Amino acid sequence: MGLDISGKTQLICLLGSPVDHSISPAMHNLAFSMLGLDYVYLAFDVKEDKLEETVKGLKLLNVRGWNLTMPNKTKMLELLDSVSPAAELIGAVNTVVNDNGTLKGHTTDGSGYMRMLLESGVDVIGKKMVIAGAGGAARAIAAQAALDGVSKITLFNRDVLKVEKLAEVLNHHTNCVVEAYGLNDERELKRAIGEAAVFTNATKVGMEPDADAAIIKDASLLYPELVVSDIVYNPKKTKLLQMAEEQGCKTIGGMGMLLWQGADAFRLWTGCDMPAYAVQRKYFK
Ligand code: NAP
Repeated sequence: MGLDISGKTQLICLLGSPVDHSISPAMHNLAFSMLGLDYVYLAFDVKEDKLEETVKGLKLLNVRGWNLTMPNKTKMLELLDSVSPAAELIGAVNTVVNDNGTLKGHTTDGSGYMRMLLESGVDVIGKKMVIAGAGGAARAIAAQAALDGVSKITLFNRDVLKVEKLAEVLNHHTNCVVEAYGLNDERELKRAIGEAAVFTNATKVGMEPDADAAIIKDASLLYPELVVSDIVYNPKKTKLLQMAEEQGCKTIGGMGMLLWQGADAFRLWTGCDMPAYAVQRKYFK
């Protein structure tokens, strides 16, 4: 299946720096082509100081939408007409939809993560979660989980101030009970993991080139009823997931979140469901 560019082809793009490693163009162009949708997805290297000018140009050309990656996820917020509830909570967007000059921002990292759990047969609604991290991805996951009805989220981060701030916002704006601790608080980590349905590593720990590192040092904290997910996707099976597997846990790697955050953005732009499993077979195995 090749791309069939016409005079009516609509552009979707990725704005960030760097972008040359991104899998998004391959994923979206395959999906457009499979569904016969007249769109094309391209990646543009745009740094934060050129974002405003770039967005003006995209609006002028009535470009249908775009993804944002580092360093543009926060800056984009200033250039929007409205934002989704999750994007408002975390103060960042990764997807923009342009409805004839009116820009709405969304964050699909969190919704993609929640969809990935569902697709993996894990129902965490009404249950407890532990999330390690307070960066962009952790905030998106925590906000979406709180909005979707997870009953309690315990956040751990190296810099405790960041999770305390996030917990304050989520406790104020959602019905979820959110607690925050430093990653070095071993007693609270053991307690929180002991009562959770899902433990998620949303830090960079375990990512190449530090693939020998794991956010959990003591494997005995992990037990067979616990689902352990790692959003790091490079390597696909992180040290944490290896440890969890040895303890008998169900484990979920980061590629699923990558796929489903893209699928959510795809639906926002086109109104169509991405043929996600076909895309997964081609690019995510
Ligand atoms: P980020 O905003 O830079 O946040 C990094 C997080 O990692 C912070 O919580 C930071 O803690 C923590 N951290 C870094 N080094 C650490 C260490 N040595 N010990 C303990 N904590 C450490 O990054 P991000 O955008 O959230 O991304 C985090 C990871 O998720 C990356 O590996 C990224 O590739 C992956 N990711 C995956 C997907 C997916 O679709 N699967 C999507 C987005 C991101 P401090 O706050 O204390 O510095």
